[in-house]
Amino acid sequence: ATPTAFLAATGRGAQLGILIREPEALERLRQVDTVVFDKTGTLTTGRMTLVETTTVPEGPAAADVLRLAGAVEHGSEHPIGRAVAAAARRRAGEGVALPMAEDFRALPGVGVSGRVEGREVRVIGPRGRSALPDVLRQALDRAEHAAHTAVVVELDGRAVAVLAVGDTVRPSSYRAVRQLRALGIESVLLTGDGPAAAKAVAEQAGITQVHAGVLPQGKAEIITGLQAAGRRVAMVGDGVNDAAALAVADLGMAMGAGTDVAIGAADITLVREDMAAVVEAVRLTRRTLRTIR
Ligand code: ADP
Ligand code: MG
Repeated sequence: ATPTAFLAATGRGAQLGILIREPEALERLRQVDTVVFDKTGTLTTGRMTLVETTTVPEGPAAADVLRLAGAVEHGSEHPIGRAVAAAARRRAGEGVALPMAEDFRALPGVGVSGRVEGREVRVIGPRGRSALPDVLRQALDRAEHAAHTAVVVELDGRAVAVLAVGDTVRPSSYRAVRQLRALGIESVLLTGDGPAAAKAVAEQAGITQVHAGVLPQGKAEIITGLQAAGRRVAMVGDGVNDAAALAVADLGMAMGAGTDVAIGAADITLVREDMAAVVEAVRLTRRTLRTIR
């Protein structure tokens, strides 16, 4: 491969909204036979909204739970966190500030915690969850079967609410998966979210291989596992939780609207909010090779 051909491909990529960090990445992308997609913010738009709040009968009212949860999520850059904080601000009303959270901590792939008004508040996903009262367990099942993502709010260690947030699969995801298959490339879904929500999105995107409930380090391990089985793997992701997987993959692609950490760990940044760019990037490398030969 001549430097000129790489340079031309890099320029063409830029026109298509595919930013390539170093030309050598094209050579690795050309050999890829498996594309692993993150779910939230990648196959889906990541523009989540709060769709349902379920509280335990003997606990604080929904408005109070939302205010405390929103105060903690204010510090989060995860799509779930942004949805919860936005809903809390709307609920609080115009000009009413949410309380401040102290000791804010974000655990990628798990959730957030902090102290608000003297209480220990945690908003967490399926993984870190303690035992749940029936009313919350039912809310959780309901949400997951509707392909929503449900998180639990804990106050001082006690589960008091389930918040369900909804997200939509990008229309371009299904098309991209189908076109990749036509190019001989298999698609895999890899998410930290629960199995029901993962399955629902996989079905909509036309993906049959699904790994759900995977922690950030686990995401990287699944990539290495595929590589050990002889696969050449590209990873597409947007979050802090995807950074390790993006780094170990033969080729990492970050969503331009994603977090800086993901972009920093990736070889390619997809500027447009469109999964067609993944297919175009592959086609670009194959075309480049043809011109070189
Ligand atoms: P994905 O792999 O689909 O992008 P993540 O790994 O980012 O999903 O998140 C996995 C799970 O961790 C989420 O489904 C959610 O349950 C929980 N989670 C992550 N960040 C937050 C947050 N800021 N607030 C609440 N829950 C969160
Ligand atoms: Mg994500």
